[in-house]
Amino acid sequence: MKLGTLEIRPGEKQSGVLRVEGCGHELPLTVIRGGEGETVLVTAGIHSAEYVGIQAGIELARELAPEQLRGTVILAPLVNVSGFAHRTMSTVYEDQKNLNREFPGTPSGTPAEQICHAIVTELLSRADVYIDLHSGDGYEALHPYAYYVGPVEKSVRERAFQIARRVEAEYLVESPLTTGGAYNHASGMGIPSVLIERGGGGLWSRAEVEADKRDVRRILAYLGVLEAPPEAGEPVRDQLVLREAVYETAPETGCWYPALRPGDRFARGTVLGEVRDCFGERLHTCVARADGVVLYQTASLPVLKDGPMVAYGVLP
Ligand SMILES: [Zn+2]
Repeated sequence: MKLGTLEIRPGEKQSGVLRVEGCGHELPLTVIRGGEGETVLVTAGIHSAEYVGIQAGIELARELAPEQLRGTVILAPLVNVSGFAHRTMSTVYEDQKNLNREFPGTPSGTPAEQICHAIVTELLSRADVYIDLHSGDGYEALHPYAYYVGPVEKSVRERAFQIARRVEAEYLVESPLTTGGAYNHASGMGIPSVLIERGGGGLWSRAEVEADKRDVRRILAYLGVLEAPPEAGEPVRDQLVLREAVYETAPETGCWYPALRPGDRFARGTVLGEVRDCFGERLHTCVARADGVVLYQTASLPVLKDGPMVAYGVLP
């Protein structure tokens, strides 16, 4: 297998970079190739301030060994390298674009579009299964959950759902989107894909990194790519599937006072928070449109006009 600067034979593990044509960004890459089997792609750092997944990817690249695998694991733990280096939070430094809105990208576009194109043509093209690690953004607090895509071929959706069931999270969210995001586009390509959300606020903890690593290992065990006893790939118990989510944006820039915390459940009509001006005067009250659970919300004082404020899953 040739990939980026690497040429990997069965039984080998190699690290190097994937150089993006055009912008020249060099994405760290580790390929671990065991015996015959499926290829699983794991990415992190598509949003550069989502450190839990980035650190989990760095550690998995060091810990997974070819002898443990029946198949191949491709790890790209830091996709948005320029955002990371300039601490932009989510966007690519050169063009201020959010990579997870630009898939499938184009080689003739801006750096973000070129990176998306490279991910699609160099990495997703080789993947049988795709796992993308995220967190809340640098200003967001989040309750762990996993996304998979609903409106794709039934076998792709079912396998993605089974993979999501191996994520240590109370909630699974079925997304209606097959474009824009990496896992959305991959799902549309016929690759069973999940996006795991854990942590946020521009922080990472040992416990969160370990949880991300357990998720990836449980998924690999379920797929039979990681050699492990059958119970290592068992689904997680007591998960709830949410088929609808509401993403409330701020109607104007101001100070944001959330009333609940991520993971809190609430009834329709509950006040989720208020936007006030710098004199403390109320500008807007955010009221729940349905019974739900807070998935993530802005944790910093400011909210920006048309920017994220609070996101919740609608309880079935
Ligand atoms: Zn993200």
